[in-house]
Amino acid sequence: MNAYSNLLSPYDFGFLKLRNRMVMGAMHTRIETLDRPVERIVAFFRERARGEAGLILTGGFAPDLAGRMEEDAPVLDGPGHLETHRAITRAVHEEGGRIALQILHAGRYGKHPLCVGPTDARAPINPHAPRALSTEEVWTTIGAIANTAALAREAGYDGVEIMGSEGYLLNEFVSPRTNTRLDAFGGSFGNRARMPLETLKAVKARTGDDFLLIYRISAVDLVEGGLTGEESRQFARLLQEAGAHMLNTGIGWHEAAIPTIAASVPRAGWRFAIENIKQAVSIPVIASNRINMPEVGERLLAEGAADFISMARPFLADPEFPRKVREGQPERINPCIACNQACLDHIFTGRSATCLVNPRAGRELDFPLKRAQAPRRIAVVGGGAAGMAFSIYAAERGHEVELFEAENELGGQLNLARMVPGKSEFDELLRYFRTRLADLGVPVTLGKRMAAPELREGRFGAVVVATGVAPRVPQIEGIGHSKVAFYHEVLSGRRKVGRQVAIIGAGGIGFDTAEFLLGDAEESLQPGRFLRAWDVDPSLQSAGGLAAARPGEPASRAIHMLQRKGDKPGSTLGKTTGWILKARLRRGGVKMISGAAYHRIDDAGLHYSHDGRMHVLPVDDVIICAGQEAQDGLAADLAASGIPSHTIGGARLATELDAARAIEEALQLAVSL
Ligand code: NAP
Ligand code: SF4
Repeated sequence: MNAYSNLLSPYDFGFLKLRNRMVMGAMHTRIETLDRPVERIVAFFRERARGEAGLILTGGFAPDLAGRMEEDAPVLDGPGHLETHRAITRAVHEEGGRIALQILHAGRYGKHPLCVGPTDARAPINPHAPRALSTEEVWTTIGAIANTAALAREAGYDGVEIMGSEGYLLNEFVSPRTNTRLDAFGGSFGNRARMPLETLKAVKARTGDDFLLIYRISAVDLVEGGLTGEESRQFARLLQEAGAHMLNTGIGWHEAAIPTIAASVPRAGWRFAIENIKQAVSIPVIASNRINMPEVGERLLAEGAADFISMARPFLADPEFPRKVREGQPERINPCIACNQACLDHIFTGRSATCLVNPRAGRELDFPLKRAQAPRRIAVVGGGAAGMAFSIYAAERGHEVELFEAENELGGQLNLARMVPGKSEFDELLRYFRTRLADLGVPVTLGKRMAAPELREGRFGAVVVATGVAPRVPQIEGIGHSKVAFYHEVLSGRRKVGRQVAIIGAGGIGFDTAEFLLGDAEESLQPGRFLRAWDVDPSLQSAGGLAAARPGEPASRAIHMLQRKGDKPGSTLGKTTGWILKARLRRGGVKMISGAAYHRIDDAGLHYSHDGRMHVLPVDDVIICAGQEAQDGLAADLAASGIPSHTIGGARLATELDAARAIEEALQLAVSL
């Protein structure tokens, strides 16, 4: 028997059958803003349906202009776009899948001047203040949502999901935090719940009882003035009575100061909140947030914590996730490492979403993985992210690839990243790379530093240089002093570090190194410790699930982090994760110094000047995190010997190198050869 029998078990609503319990959660991808939008969206959903998702939820569609997330967010309020929607539903159905349209009214989170809310109170994360909806306009909005649901049915969708979590309009109505209205839609709990409940009734009246109706409930608000666990259960029961066929769960409002999906959140870390909803109702409940591997989802289902598993980002990372589960091959799943780098960070910086581990996501048309017309023998030098990814993509296209790595293990910079607390998901990525290389029969030679003459013999039709980066050595007097260590020596555990530390460089690696040196005193990936560290009340007795703030644990080290630039440290960190790192370092008492000039390192410590005054930090160790330089010597040697080669990843350009760019360059080169 397959170890994932619960995940693979079909479900029959009577009017609709789902082939398994794996739901692709709604994602805002913005791929509709790219060229060939319809073709692109259809390809995106088709690939995920072919990968055997049990149910696909689209990204959110606003029911009217006021409900948009941003100016160019998609709206479904009339028959104008039905042909596009029909193309999507047709593609999914052709692949044996099912698809529901998510209806999202952004409420006071709408980033445009037309946004509305239960009152005119502005959300702390939105510069636009909403206009308070009148009683009549609340009814009009309910009608607009029902109209969108009816259009969805007309377009061939199997159902709709009404977005009622994350602090969007319907959530705002239910919560006393944002709903202080004095009419029939405000005040008592019953009045505050009225808008979502009337919405369900109106949708049902327009779409009938044989059209899947999912409500996404906020399982825990994580904001002051949010609902208690008891109130959430009461609301869940009302939703069931109002005709919801299924409840999906959302965790935390967008304005909450607690991470809900980043890598530092333990897998299935919000189980207590999901179970609270599950215990209140008899309709199926979908679990969500930080479920990225099948064993996590299977356990939740087997233990009765939920009936379905929603995964959103994991379907960007691997559209074939459910098929690999069915085939009993979880080790071949390309894992979502919860980095947010190419998905959410892109969305919040005005770009379309893709995925660090799968840069084809959302760009399936740009990177068709067709067999190569003239397969070649290719030597790949360097077994970091770029070299491994290229080897896999090229071998998948039928090229005969050989991979050479100078160290005794594959991984390169990924082997350092995985050592940082909260980044252990990189282990899954390494597992994926190793499994795929073995599957594809790519010969890997470890401990071999290739030189130009060995590549000249004519054995190879192409050479790919992916030799990565070397840490930059800053020109500071005393850089050779015994107090000086480089980040790779520290993260790899080769260098033990004292209790007083200075870190030179406040980029991503400086922050990661500081976090590593603080150890797990503050937090680890054990759910209980994570919840304590972020002051979450898992008993859900308090409003919003927030516990009283407790004093932090004493820091294990005194750390100073310095940079020469005058701006705020951490400005280069990820848009959606940087605040988490900064908060953790603040709690760990890390002192940040901007605008420093380094003078020397000696027995007394680090001498630097700041604001025209000299200072000495009497530290045990000075750790250099001053960026990297490309290791491009081999590429230069090959060029000098007249051997053509292709250079990718850090070896091509070390500045702002990250795994996302390395893997994307690998894909681009592989499809071009
Ligand atoms: P980085 O982000 O470029 O930061 C390098 C740091 O070193 C800067 O603070 C810079 O500040 C300083 N520096 C540069 N040249 C120097 C010199 N000659 N002497 C002294 N200080 C110098 O590089 P990184 O931290 O090594 O990160 C590499 C890449 O990985 C980046 O793209 C980064 O975004 C990514 N990454 C991101 C994360 C994350 O977001 N959590 C984690 C790890 C890595 P001054 O020039 O002002 O002194
Ligand atoms: Fe997951 Fe990172 Fe890919 Fe986003 S970019 S889907 S978080 S692996």
